[in-house]
Amino acid sequence: MERIKPRGPKAPRRPQLADRIELQEQVTELAAQQAAMSEVLRSIANSPHDLEPIFDTITANATRLCRAEVGALIIFEEHGYRLVARTGMADEFYVKGRLYPVSEGAPSARMIKTRSPVHIADLAADQAYHQRIPGLVALVERIGVRSYLLVPMLKDNELVGGITIVRARMQPFTDKQIELVTAFAAQATIALEITRRERQLRQAQMELAHATRVAAMGHLTGSLAHELKQPLSAMAANAEAGSRWLTREPPQIEKAKQSVERIVKDVERASAVIDRVHGLVKKAPPRTDTININDAILEVMTVVHGELVKNRIRAQTQLSDSLPRVRGDRVQLQQVMLNLVINAIQAMSGVTDGIRELRISTESIKQEVRVAVQDTGPGLMTDNLEQLFEPFFTTKPSGMGMGLSICRTIVEEHGGRLWASENEPKGALFQFALPPTSTLDGT
Ligand code: ADP
Repeated sequence: MERIKPRGPKAPRRPQLADRIELQEQVTELAAQQAAMSEVLRSIANSPHDLEPIFDTITANATRLCRAEVGALIIFEEHGYRLVARTGMADEFYVKGRLYPVSEGAPSARMIKTRSPVHIADLAADQAYHQRIPGLVALVERIGVRSYLLVPMLKDNELVGGITIVRARMQPFTDKQIELVTAFAAQATIALEITRRERQLRQAQMELAHATRVAAMGHLTGSLAHELKQPLSAMAANAEAGSRWLTREPPQIEKAKQSVERIVKDVERASAVIDRVHGLVKKAPPRTDTININDAILEVMTVVHGELVKNRIRAQTQLSDSLPRVRGDRVQLQQVMLNLVINAIQAMSGVTDGIRELRISTESIKQEVRVAVQDTGPGLMTDNLEQLFEPFFTTKPSGMGMGLSICRTIVEEHGGRLWASENEPKGALFQFALPPTSTLDGT
């Protein structure tokens, strides 16, 4: 066995100028890498819903820091890979957004097999180029690519995509550079995962919001049916009257015409009821509109009108006529109103002594559009008002306890807040405040 010879202490070598320069370069390089990594993280934080700017930043930084000319980020799909970002020289073959097949023998096919980086020192000497695979012919002959690197994006050992960077000169990539691109690939995978989860969460939230909206409308079916019955029976009566006027001798055309006109009006009334209900229960992706909150409230009030009458509740609206508009999804904000109003109606439906009064008001206070829903029910029977907004908190025998929690999510997604307090002298007061469009737009 070879013995390790003990070495005597070595006198520390004075750093030479060349060493110092190299050290300095390393520090500068590291600082540049760190700056690039934080730029990527910033773009992930700034646009969690939009991968495009994130992938662009990653590709540009990986290419620049490895002193390469062209870079691209690809994501694998069922039938090949999609080019989602590219930087450097443009070529008509490689176009952002286009889907490419994986050709046998191509670097992408090799990466699929090995799940490790594919590094080709000289692409012009590689078998894939001699196979005349179109993508590689384009790289070598049109862009002039020589040294080539493709690094996988792996999620739990599953290949999701890759980052490729290429040089228009023959200069193989160093291990450090391959490591760096691998770190960028990891960031791209994280970004992909964050947006995927975000999308799933939004989808689940939307489904839940839709389900609670349908449930809220369920409370109104009785009174809505009643509201539809009115124009329907009026139509029947007018139709009968109209035919009687026509069978008179001589036929009373003018009177019959009036009956028909009344029928048309009732048809319009009935279809307006159906449209409003349909607008609230239909499943539609969220939209961003400029909304007049007063109009949105009045529409909700017409939907709940029958329920208010049935429960003998007097409704008062005090809507500010100088209210700035708000930006967001009209149906979602109407859902908030609908939930608050239905809660108020339900709270007052058990009141036997005293008045049942619902008061809806809007005003513009401190740069906010504020909406208040007041009732004269028994009030909030809890010391912990925040509890009301927790999912599944309910004091109703058949309650879901989701209404207020969803309402708060919707309001917060619109940049606002929703809170509860006791109403004076009795009942509950729910308020929400939204930023007006002007502060959001900075106009
Ligand atoms: P649900 O209506 O299914 O119970 P919500 O999340 O809408 O679910 O409401 C949670 C709870 O908040 C209700 O069960 C009730 O105890 C209380 N609450 C909500 N609105 C009022 C109100 N206007 N007056 C009194 N209590 C209310």
